[in-house]
Amino acid sequence: MKYERTFESFRDSLEQILNLPVHSSDDFRELVNRWTDIEDQIEEELGWRYIRMTLNTENEELMRDYEEYYEGVVARLKPLLHELKEKIVQNERYAPFGFEHMLKVLKNEVELFREENVPLQVEETVLSKEYGAIVGGITVDFMGERKTLQQLSVYLRDPNRSVREAAWRKRFEGIWTKREELNVLFDRLKEIRHRQALNAGFSNYRDYAHRLKGRFEYTPEDLFRFHEAVEKEVVPYLRERLKVRREKLGVESVKPWDTEVDVDGKVLKPFKNVEELVEKTERALVKIHPTFQERFSLMKEKGLLDLENRKGKAPGGYNHTLPKTGAPFIFMNAVGRPDDVRTIFHELGHAMHSFETLHLPTLYRPERMEVAELASMSMELISMEQWREFYESEEDFKKAKIEELEGTLTFLPWCVIVDAFQHWIYTNPNHTAKERDEYFAHLMDRFNPGVDWTGLEEEKRTRWLFQLHIFEVPFYYIEYGIAQIGALDVYRNYLKDPEKALQDYLRFLRVGCSSPVDEVYRTAGAKLDFSREHLREIVGFVAGEIEKLESSR
Ligand SMILES: [Zn+2]
Repeated sequence: MKYERTFESFRDSLEQILNLPVHSSDDFRELVNRWTDIEDQIEEELGWRYIRMTLNTENEELMRDYEEYYEGVVARLKPLLHELKEKIVQNERYAPFGFEHMLKVLKNEVELFREENVPLQVEETVLSKEYGAIVGGITVDFMGERKTLQQLSVYLRDPNRSVREAAWRKRFEGIWTKREELNVLFDRLKEIRHRQALNAGFSNYRDYAHRLKGRFEYTPEDLFRFHEAVEKEVVPYLRERLKVRREKLGVESVKPWDTEVDVDGKVLKPFKNVEELVEKTERALVKIHPTFQERFSLMKEKGLLDLENRKGKAPGGYNHTLPKTGAPFIFMNAVGRPDDVRTIFHELGHAMHSFETLHLPTLYRPERMEVAELASMSMELISMEQWREFYESEEDFKKAKIEELEGTLTFLPWCVIVDAFQHWIYTNPNHTAKERDEYFAHLMDRFNPGVDWTGLEEEKRTRWLFQLHIFEVPFYYIEYGIAQIGALDVYRNYLKDPEKALQDYLRFLRVGCSSPVDEVYRTAGAKLDFSREHLREIVGFVAGEIEKLESSR
């Protein structure tokens, strides 16, 4: 599997490309094609190394293989790749029709580039990795055993309330042992980021990050409108749902450790083993669209699926594009839970996106997360109509659907808290650690759907310490909320007219990121709309679907 291309060989090819004369639109096209080819080779090699590493985390050599390649090849090629981007921008006049959006994105990158920010970005990357090391290394005693914070999360679903509470409290006990260290780390990250913004001519990192992410289609003010829309339209509905939860659980108030447990005390079992998961997924896919099933079978035959949970595998799930293989790889940790059904269709949404965009130039692949997640989240929701393959009884089928639909909305308050928190942090860079915690607690209250935090003030103000994104990938989170609303638009269309909605979805997949996000959303039949009116419509739709399912149970 190892096809090696060294830094030197990539460098030589890139230098060749940088010397290519450009005198015509054909030359311009050739430039972009060769750039795409180089990026594809890098992505393919990095992809396999990433896959091997996550399949066997106990093998340190595989981790070194990945890191060596990243640091020794990928990171070192960045300055040359930047020069290539500059060359493309400089030859703008030769660009044929269809490259307008690419040029816009590249010009933005070139404009924001500052030589003095390069070492700062390296420092930021190295520092932000410390978060994972610190939090991953925390262990606490729980029921006579040493547990990591991640292992404790499982107990938040335990039917025994005192077990849930104990696990929940232990998680905070654990993270508090590193509270000081995490705050110091975060302050350093914040300063490095702020300096990069100043170097690039911005007054704060928030505005800089917004531009860096190429968010031309919406402003920070639009996001504030989105936060408010969630507060005013989503939270009140969730408050109603929480009352139902309180009654079903028979508790006086819903404490933070009561939000994840199943209210009926029933655990759904959609499949017994991975063979069954694959078989049922194929049967569902063929009913959605035969092409989806054909591709899934192809991935299976080519050994591009690793689905079952095993000791030594990294947690979570992902879809990795492998441009030279011509098909992606799906990784997950299936154990037979409803979450796994959701995950496989989510990743399959990404996978179909990979297949459909392989022919596009590198920059037009699903780079923007608002777009990538619309593909995966829409597939999740559309697939729901075929979940009878997994849930034989009508009762279980309905229960699974209600959980999925409810989940689309319960995620939103946390999503906007994480976003609003970062807006505040980076536009008030001189705050103290204490002020930061206080502002976070204020947001927790503002978006609280009725969870009882009485007596848990210290926990409430420090909950952000668990959120990796805040440390490692600033401002990357709200995309999930945006895509979730878009996916509900797509699903609503699908229920009205499945054939048309699916045609739109396929067209959307093929477009990739070759035009601005709002246009791409329109292709899918969704709206990029942050208004209260739009959210009211969406919440009304979800509430109506849940009501239909519940009243017919
Ligand atoms: Zn995803």
